[in-house]
Amino acid sequence: MDPTFPTIGILGGGQLGKMMAAEAVRMGIETKLLSPKDAGPMRPYAGAQVGDWTDPDVLRSFVSDCDVITVESEWAPAGAAADVLPDDTALWPSTATLSLIKDKGVQKQHLADAGCPVPEFVRCNTMEDALDAAEAYGYPVVLKQCRGAYDGYGNATVHSVEALREAWPNLADDGLMVETFADFTRELAVQVARRPGGEQVVYPVAYTEQRDHRCHAVEVPADIDEGVAEEARDLAQAAVEAVEGVGLIAVELFEMPDGDLLVNELAPRPHNTGHYSIEGSDTSQFENHVRAILDWPLGSTALRQPVAVMVNVLGRREGTPPRSTGLPRALDTDGVSPHIYGKPDVRPGRKMGHVTALGSNRADVRKRAEMAAGAIEL
Ligand code: ATP
Ligand code: MG
Repeated sequence: MDPTFPTIGILGGGQLGKMMAAEAVRMGIETKLLSPKDAGPMRPYAGAQVGDWTDPDVLRSFVSDCDVITVESEWAPAGAAADVLPDDTALWPSTATLSLIKDKGVQKQHLADAGCPVPEFVRCNTMEDALDAAEAYGYPVVLKQCRGAYDGYGNATVHSVEALREAWPNLADDGLMVETFADFTRELAVQVARRPGGEQVVYPVAYTEQRDHRCHAVEVPADIDEGVAEEARDLAQAAVEAVEGVGLIAVELFEMPDGDLLVNELAPRPHNTGHYSIEGSDTSQFENHVRAILDWPLGSTALRQPVAVMVNVLGRREGTPPRSTGLPRALDTDGVSPHIYGKPDVRPGRKMGHVTALGSNRADVRKRAEMAAGAIEL
């Protein structure tokens, strides 16, 4: 008998879960989401549920009728889910991959051991160790919390002994790294989708522009030397191979002034720098994630138009709920696709949505994406 359509279970109910589920639902794949809180982005789905995902009974019941479990974030309780997984249910990325990634110190060491170039770093348990490391590297250095950091929260670039002493108590809880400051030319990102057997596809190199430690815009393909682009894609694939990632994995890179590349970090899931692919690519990062975890054939990563630009829509005020006033104004710009995540609370700087524009002239595409994102005003 032909198999029925599979059911996937997503641990998480934020925008990444929402966009993964959208692709799965489009292909007729049953989709469930579990979130510890009533997350706005997952609300449109009938298969969304709120429950204590640290409770084995809640997890057992959630995974019981799923064929594959996946996570929208490296912080989801994949280990606890693995403990209650039925024999014929898969979990991707594997808990082994996740445990190599979710601690930034473990991750960097593993990548370095695998021959992937990374900024010099050392894990420090005490402020004295950190001061010694900073002295040896030379200021500025970047202090990074090994766990739980995102969108730049959990990092501090310090330029002096005093600044390090001041930053330390706000960061150090269960381990901290001191990293050399990479005086890069650009930040780049590459998405890779990998099936359990190792088959991979790789996306074009994305140029990612940060403002206030947050991703502001992404341009694809990055306007870089062809040789550097090829090397970036090779390095991304090697990094994903090194952690045996399955699903979509994003690799953040620094391009140095001499053209050398360093790996900043991996994200074992679809990533903000790949959102452009929903409209921009033959197969979006979310669809290839779904295909990869189901061990189904991966889709083409080719761009549909010469240039894609994504601009994030960040919250501008404090309050509930977001108002749609600016959305029709954004839609007045030709050829832009707005995505609003459906988060019920707005906070300044919070990622509330994004806009993608496509076209052939980089400056024009960028302008349209910026205009539309700027008009939305949440
Ligand atoms: P996110 O969730 O935004 O991906 P994060 O909070 O996990 O990030 P990182 O990616 O480690 O943190 O760092 C955030 C940003 O800080 C980077 O995108 C980069 O702009 C800057 N940064 C990080 N490490 C370094 C470094 N060694 N040298 C210079 N800049 C750095
Ligand atoms: Mg990062």
